[in-house]
Amino acid sequence: MNESDCIFCKIVRKEIPAREVAREADAVAFSDLNPKAPTHVLVIPARHAANLGDFASQASPHELGNLLALAAKVGREASPSGYRVVINEGLDAGQSVFHLHLHVLAGRALAWPPG
Ligand code: 5GP
Ligand code: ZN
Repeated sequence: MNESDCIFCKIVRKEIPAREVAREADAVAFSDLNPKAPTHVLVIPARHAANLGDFASQASPHELGNLLALAAKVGREASPSGYRVVINEGLDAGQSVFHLHLHVLAGRALAWPPG
């Protein structure tokens, strides 16, 4: 998977539509197409990286921190009473889109542990 046919890169480039909730220089947040909670936002880096491990080894600490800060901002704005941030890496975790994304889930009680 490269940047030209990655669906999340296409969302960053605005080549396919998404319901954006935030756009910063190096990160974009948009609603998940198939939400698992009343609020389900995906926070992604603007630059392509397949997963957290790749991004962590390529990006600066500043970029890495910005991504987490944007997830916190989206989560708190959606629900001051609590939210969850999830990152799936690899097949065992159920990753299905291979451009790093942080799931921000809120708006209902979230069971623990996840399945
Ligand atoms: P993963 O399973 O990789 O952790 O999560 C991928 C997420 O991307 C899923 O929750 C899925 O609903 C969402 N998704 C897949 N394709 C699209 C799309 O084209 N647009 C949006 N907004 N979300 C998508
Ligand atoms: Zn991508």
